[in-house]
Amino acid sequence: MKSVTIFGATGSVGQSAVDLIVRHPEDYDVVALTGGRNITQLAKDAVRLKAKVAVTCHDDLLNDLKSLLDGTGVEVAAGTTAIAEVAHRRADWTLSAIIGAAGLVPGLTALSHGTTLALANKESLVTAGPLLMQTAKDHGATILPVDSEHSAVFQALVGEEMDAVERIIITASGGAFRDWPVEKLAGATLAEASSHPNWDMGQRITIDSASMFNKGMELIETKEFFDVDPKMIEVLVHRESLVHALVGFTDGALMAHVGPPDMRHAIGYALHWPKRGNLPVERLDLAKIGRLSFEAPDPARYPALQIAADVMEMGGLAGAAFNAAKERALDLFIADKIGFLDMARIVSRVIDTMSARDGLQNAQITLENVMEIDALARVRAQEAMSELG
Ligand code: NDP
Ligand code: MG
Repeated sequence: MKSVTIFGATGSVGQSAVDLIVRHPEDYDVVALTGGRNITQLAKDAVRLKAKVAVTCHDDLLNDLKSLLDGTGVEVAAGTTAIAEVAHRRADWTLSAIIGAAGLVPGLTALSHGTTLALANKESLVTAGPLLMQTAKDHGATILPVDSEHSAVFQALVGEEMDAVERIIITASGGAFRDWPVEKLAGATLAEASSHPNWDMGQRITIDSASMFNKGMELIETKEFFDVDPKMIEVLVHRESLVHALVGFTDGALMAHVGPPDMRHAIGYALHWPKRGNLPVERLDLAKIGRLSFEAPDPARYPALQIAADVMEMGGLAGAAFNAAKERALDLFIADKIGFLDMARIVSRVIDTMSARDGLQNAQITLENVMEIDALARVRAQEAMSELG
């Protein structure tokens, strides 16, 4: 039996993981499930998966969650601190699927207990990659990528030497606006940005796919996880979202990972690693699909990619500033305070200001420094919004 904990169990990735586990309850001993506002789902899953503890990050929902789980034997807790605390209860396998920088501390804490961390929360690597990797090393823990592109790269690298890797290509669907005239992007609405052509995901990452901030984050995630030179990483627009990544080797071979756009594949790969499980995902009929297309991303349509490439070159705490500014800009877009293209303007301005004033490049990547830069970048993003007028 494998003991498992899911951070962000009520989200899009979390629910895909619950779906895999609920099919084989005899194989898993569920330690903790965490969620946010959706306590009905959290309580339902805690009961059917026989979790020892269920935690919501919202203090004000404690009593409601208690009522939902009254008499079930499931322990209940609430608040950000409670989430960090359950990360101290060791599990063999932990899924980090909280959205945003809030996922960093639970993941780090779980790693310090030697868990195998299945990492969907890319923000952890973008904000504090070296800290995360070092913590895993220090405690004999393992990190497995769950982002589909990174799981694909990881799988293409099985049995290979990193010295033989020349390039890593991650693919992007192009998001909601891939066929829009660039001039129309400024007027894109929240509803329009919130629909993805291929993947069914949480709203925030769906909007980040339309702007390609998601792919920008994934560039940094690739650099941090695989420890490669930023110049080796490329983005390719691939509308069908079936080839998730390709690895190019020194002999000219390209190993591509092909699969349906279903997060249960990447989660299931991490759940069964180093073996392969039998997963309930679609088997592709390539004859029916017929053709796959690839094109270079248009920099005018996706300014986020260049900002991310610059941030990747800067290193240090630039990733923490980038992520926090992006999260704040996304909040402002969702709240209808700024337009779609203002997100890239704000993040770019924050990086420019902070690299000049707040010293990003050479700072040490400690949790304290990351938190400080994260908070500062959110303030700078707000200032940048006022300056844009
Ligand atoms: P969702 O928004 O669907 O879910 C996020 C989860 O985190 C929910 O359980 C939510 O609770 C909880 N949560 C939200 N805010 C906080 C907080 N401040 N503290 C603790 N918990 C919180 O996100 P996704 O599932 O889409 O994404 C999760 C992570 O996986 C992200 O890092 C994303 O980039 C990454 N990812 C997602 C993919 C996808 O297919 N969705 C693909 C690849 C990576 P509640 O909903 O109950 O409020
Ligand atoms: Mg991805």
